[in-house]
Amino acid sequence: MKIDLHCHSTASDGLYSPEILMDLARIRAIDVLALTDHDTLAGVDEAQNYAQGLQLIPGIELSTQYQGESIHVLGYFSPGNHHQPELDAALEEFRSRRDARALEIAARLREFYDLDIDVASLLVSPGASVGRPHLAGLIRAKYGYDFPTIFQKYLGNHTKAYVPSSNLAYEDGLALLNRAGATVILAHPGDYKTPVEELLRSDLHGLECYYPKHSPNETSQFLKICQDQNLLVTAGSDDHGQEKGYHGSLGETPFLLSQLEPFLAKMGITVK
Ligand code: AMP
Ligand code: ZN
Ligand code: FE
Ligand code: FE
Repeated sequence: MKIDLHCHSTASDGLYSPEILMDLARIRAIDVLALTDHDTLAGVDEAQNYAQGLQLIPGIELSTQYQGESIHVLGYFSPGNHHQPELDAALEEFRSRRDARALEIAARLREFYDLDIDVASLLVSPGASVGRPHLAGLIRAKYGYDFPTIFQKYLGNHTKAYVPSSNLAYEDGLALLNRAGATVILAHPGDYKTPVEELLRSDLHGLECYYPKHSPNETSQFLKICQDQNLLVTAGSDDHGQEKGYHGSLGETPFLLSQLEPFLAKMGITVK
């Protein structure tokens, strides 16, 4: 059974439209796919129209803040239940914050690095959330640098141009997703300075143990925590359709199926 529980479309910073992504998933013989765009569910609505033959789990990757660090939280919904008034209103606010933030980053790029990009020229789909990869695309088009260089020098969290995408506190993000009825999973726990133990909460339901950037040691450490604390285990590639090397590729994150079964059962998916 092929499963990928983390990927992005043009509704955030992925390269492929939800329609193309669904085709790609079928070509890769994926059985269960969750679309998890940054701070928006807009792609899920479109993807649903093209999901024939796939079990599509509506999902989201919410950006939150914990002690100055950006922590990503995945929320998964049962099909048809991803729109909740409180969450939709919050997402609209986060999305407009991202628009303003893109302008702020562009101003800083000009001030600190003498880079001049025209954010207004960004062609993003309606309802999409703008992220740093969009800005990186503009810098690449104009100055010819590659993505790793651009993030290293100009857009990374450690640069002078960095502005957080959200000011949503980690705990508030967990609570928001819980109130919307989501199953809540900590995305790529190996990515953070904060140790995963410090991020465990009663309303966090599991960890994305299988992730392309996790070392075998990290994966076993996260799996052990899930086993000891009775948490759900998930697996995701974080495919963005581009810049392979930084993200994984759709359907290509290996995992042990038996470990994903409790999550899949909670989503109402039976294992073939
Ligand atoms: P944002 O949510 O706007 O802060 O953008 C975060 C996104 O930027 C991540 O989900 C990645 O897609 C991308 N990103 C972050 N760091 C890098 C990097 N070093 N190289 C390529 N993409 C990156
Ligand atoms: Zn991204
Ligand atoms: Fe992430
Ligand atoms: Fe992601």
